[in-house]
Amino acid sequence: MPSPEIDALTQALARLPGYGPRSARRAVLHLVKRRETALAPLIAALHAVDERLATCTTCGNVDTTDPCGICADPRRDARALCVVEEVADLWALDRSRLFPGRFHVLGGRLSALDGVRPEDLSVDRLVQRVSGGEIDEVVLALNATLEGQTTAHYVAERLERHPVRITQLAHGLPVGGELDYLDEGTLAQALRARRPVA
Ligand SMILES: [Zn+2]
Repeated sequence: MPSPEIDALTQALARLPGYGPRSARRAVLHLVKRRETALAPLIAALHAVDERLATCTTCGNVDTTDPCGICADPRRDARALCVVEEVADLWALDRSRLFPGRFHVLGGRLSALDGVRPEDLSVDRLVQRVSGGEIDEVVLALNATLEGQTTAHYVAERLERHPVRITQLAHGLPVGGELDYLDEGTLAQALRARRPVA
């Protein structure tokens, strides 16, 4: 039987996404066997993040500075803004390094089922940023779900009166996707978004 302290560590790890009791036990064993090379750096990293953790008041990103690293980066294209539902979406898009501009996290999507209303999302803040006049294009990178698309329509409506180009991610064939494996929704979107053969 492990001690209460080791048990508490295992349970805390087991609650993390992607972890279960078995992988948590393996991680704990790894940490206690490598106190200097694994446990100590982990503790230091957790401490450093915990001490400085902040939500960016401009875009809603989670970082250790406010404004976050992306908002503060002068090399970013200030004229392009990409709107996402969650911080996870921002991180995923930023990892791809395909978008040169900055981001705006709504903090969710409109949902009658979950009781998420427009005032629960940071749409007012988005309108405020856009009315600053520096932004030319707003890319709506919301999920291709019914709720994501309802939210996209709502955001587009709110931005209607502002002189910005509003674009949306194309929803189409995934790279390497084979037609007969696709669901009908994806296939229908791909067909609707068809373009001339170059
Ligand atoms: Zn930011």
